[in-house]
Order: sequence, then structure tokens, then C-alpha cells
Amino acid sequence: MEQGYNELLDRAWGSLPDNLKEHSRFEIPKADTFIEGNQTTIRNFNEIANALGRDPKYLMTYLFKELAAPGVYDGNRVVIQRVLKQGVIEQKINAYALEYVICHECQRPDTEIAELAGQKIIKCQACGAWKPMRRIK
Ligand SMILES: [Zn+2]
Repeated sequence: MEQGYNELLDRAWGSLPDNLKEHSRFEIPKADTFIEGNQTTIRNFNEIANALGRDPKYLMTYLFKELAAPGVYDGNRVVIQRVLKQGVIEQKINAYALEYVICHECQRPDTEIAELAGQKIIKCQACGAWKPMRRIK
């Protein structure tokens, strides 16, 4: 089940770049990571969160859960208590972008988190589409 979902995300992401070429200002920076002992540090974490237009704390919570590892955020970098390949981290960041940033209707990244009747939603400022925000925890 979990595997199938991830494959679905991979496929969905794989089909995105052509669409995104029209909106070239949206680029997720490459994750700048290094492994030390049994920890993996993401050096440009703020830069990535800024590019996504999301609070770093949201992205951090998502990554810790998805990677099944605890970590710390020092206001700039994130250190995860697990050895992780750079590609694995990027895959999770891409999955986050698909779920929480990119509009499911028009594929643009111009979304914001809003509230509707007390429920958090992801609303697109470009086309007006919205969907309920899936809770991370
Ligand atoms: Zn849209």
C-alpha cells in the first residue's frame, strides 16, 4: 500500500516537468546534504522551504515522519538522525511539493494554506481550485 502510493507519486512527479517549464520561476533547489556518522544534514533547508513558499517547520515535520527518523532544525539547517542518500531526501521533498504546494488542477505552485469552515485547505491563487490539506500528524 505504502509502496504503491510512493510509486504513484513518482509517476505523477515524472509527468510534471513539461508543465513546469511554462512556469520556470518554480524550481526546487537541489538538496545540499552531507552525512556525518549516522546523521544526515540538509544545509540549504531554509532555501528549499522558501522556494516552496512554506514554513520550514511544516516541511521539517513532514520529512521526519516520512523518513521515520527524528531530527533537529536549528533555524537554517536540518539534521536528521539517520543515514540518507541525497536522492531519497529529494524524492520526499518532491512528494511534499506535489501534495502541499503544486495545484492539482493547473499544476502551478501559486498555492497558499487557507482555512475554510475551520479546516485547513490548500488554495490556488492562480485558478482558484482548492483541496483539503492532508494532516501530517
Ligand atoms: Zn490552480
